[in-house]
Amino acid sequence: MAVSSEAILESRELEKTYRGGTKALNGISLSVNGGTIFGLLGPNGAGKTTFVKIAATQLLPTSGSIRILGHDVVREPKAVRNAIAVVPQEARPLSLQTPYEHILTYLIARGVSISEAKKRANVAIENLKLQDHRNVICANLSGGLRQRVLIAMAMSSETDLLILDEPTLGLDPLARLEVWNLVRDYVSKNSRTILLTTHYMDEAETLSDNLAIVNKGKIIAQGTPKEIKKRLNAENVVIVKSSDSSMSFETYGRTLRAGSSVRVFTDRQRADELVSVCLRKNLEVSVREVNLEDVFISEVGTNIDDATESD
Ligand code: ADP
Repeated sequence: MAVSSEAILESRELEKTYRGGTKALNGISLSVNGGTIFGLLGPNGAGKTTFVKIAATQLLPTSGSIRILGHDVVREPKAVRNAIAVVPQEARPLSLQTPYEHILTYLIARGVSISEAKKRANVAIENLKLQDHRNVICANLSGGLRQRVLIAMAMSSETDLLILDEPTLGLDPLARLEVWNLVRDYVSKNSRTILLTTHYMDEAETLSDNLAIVNKGKIIAQGTPKEIKKRLNAENVVIVKSSDSSMSFETYGRTLRAGSSVRVFTDRQRADELVSVCLRKNLEVSVREVNLEDVFISEVGTNIDDATESD
């Protein structure tokens, strides 16, 4: 059953403190609407996988709740599991199975009849363009193809909600684009819903209808990519390379220094003026439209790579 417009997943003040004291989630409230792609964006260590594991009924929250299609993940785990398919970050297909066998055994394990499972496995192989690799064991497939097998498997279950944890981690640029297309097609053609996590800004911005940016277990911004970028009150950002902290660009707009570069959030006209001034002073300068990375830097004070938790 494809559902649209209403919330498929709703979390309220979700908190998770691991044994040992790490507070991985600190009050996450969000709502994923049917027929949309929702992106959970944040650096490593932000709490994305913890959120996904609780939604997938693999981990209990410390407090707060997640409801999926009205079912509480703690009280009604079976109903939740029937409503979702998950591709965890660490998932790998079984080396000695072919893509076709993989999808087939997964569907049978989910309780689909053999004849229906065969039908769906064939459709999934075709939809995910795995025909040429249908009978090749997964050990002999590239990383991108293996990821495609896992996504095909999850998609073939035809659940209302598909959860993908970092679906393009470690893939080459072409394989990433292929995954993006699969994700978009699945939602647009089937009106189904995807929750995906990512630490790639461009991925979140390109794919998400709505997203939440998380850092250290808290949401720092939430909305459509456009709404989130509006918080910056600027169309453009001028990035000037200069370690001279006495240089001031405040007259052109709000200024943020990160490392050896300065970001100036401004409008098109003042951006042009500032670029000219920088070029006259032989400073390395670039200008572009604002993006989600700017929002992250503006809220957190560092870029997403520097915000990544170190071991
Ligand atoms: P992300 O998916 O955004 O990288 P995680 O949810 O994996 O973030 O981790 C969030 C925080 O919880 C991190 O500080 C991480 O070290 C910690 N963490 C994750 N899993 C465990 C665990 N099983 N036990 C203790 N701490 C954990």
